[in-house]
Amino acid sequence: MAPGGSACKEVIESHSPVADYDIASAKSESNNATSTTTTTTMKTSVNLVGKHGIHSNNGVYELLECPVCTNLMYPPIHQCPNGHTLCSNCKIRVHNCCPTCRYDLGNIRCLALEKVAESLELPCKYQNLGCQDIFPYYSKLKHEQHCRFRPYNCPYAGSDCSVTGDIPTLVSHLKDDHKVDMHDGCTFNHRYVKSNPHEVENATWMLTVFNCFGRQFCLHFEAFQLGMAPVYMAFLRFMGDDNEAKKFSYSLEVGANGRKLIWQGIPRSIRDSHRKVRDSQDGLVIQRNLALYFSGGDRQELKLRVTGRIWKEE
Ligand SMILES: [Zn+2]
Ligand SMILES: [Zn+2]
Ligand SMILES: [Zn+2]
Ligand SMILES: [Zn+2]
Repeated sequence: MAPGGSACKEVIESHSPVADYDIASAKSESNNATSTTTTTTMKTSVNLVGKHGIHSNNGVYELLECPVCTNLMYPPIHQCPNGHTLCSNCKIRVHNCCPTCRYDLGNIRCLALEKVAESLELPCKYQNLGCQDIFPYYSKLKHEQHCRFRPYNCPYAGSDCSVTGDIPTLVSHLKDDHKVDMHDGCTFNHRYVKSNPHEVENATWMLTVFNCFGRQFCLHFEAFQLGMAPVYMAFLRFMGDDNEAKKFSYSLEVGANGRKLIWQGIPRSIRDSHRKVRDSQDGLVIQRNLALYFSGGDRQELKLRVTGRIWKEE
């Protein structure tokens, strides 16, 4: 039945999909030869539409739709010995067993379909987020890495949060799921208190979000080890793209006893990971000794007052 290719274990039984399929083909064959093709095509498209509820006006796109995950297939496109195609992600997921006919997939590429896939102009995968661009396959992949409509990662630094989305989604997410403090206004006066500053190793981090100029800014505060030196660092990230972040400036001040440190900078886009910004020290860095001095008292408690301002560069 299958040219080459051995059947996967659980499938060798009389009611495998391929058996049904062959019966259907055989039936129409006995009526007239041309209808075989029709039956086959119809069966494929019914399968696509019925199972995954996706309709397309363009038959070529339908051909390129992976029957398992319903994503468009790109090279390498695989096929089983019976000609059922599927994408390379799904090939791994189904453990090399054709999900349609249950035959062993082997390592057969569908070069013709790959050629078609490469030549098609495809919409950016962030089309539903607002991107109107279309590209041939490989340019599309390149574009998508930098598409300005691609979702942002959650800017919360305290955990490996995998939530992504547009800015309004992430603002609600920060508020609801991370219980982040939200403040309105372009100036701030923030107190950071920590009772056991000597225990801190890469651990203290805080995030506050400011609503200002109708945009959102993340103020990060954290403790980490810079080389051998324990330091605190405060910096601002902009919830939006880099080209917009550059339109803003901010300043941070911390001090006491007639001394103060002032930082002026440009907020970094949240496209830059929190870690990347931290490691580049693009913010107000306070040595722990100085931080404890600014805290006053007996140096047993960290009590920093950070003031700041955000403004728009004209
Ligand atoms: Zn797939
Ligand atoms: Zn198959
Ligand atoms: Zn795009
Ligand atoms: Zn999150």
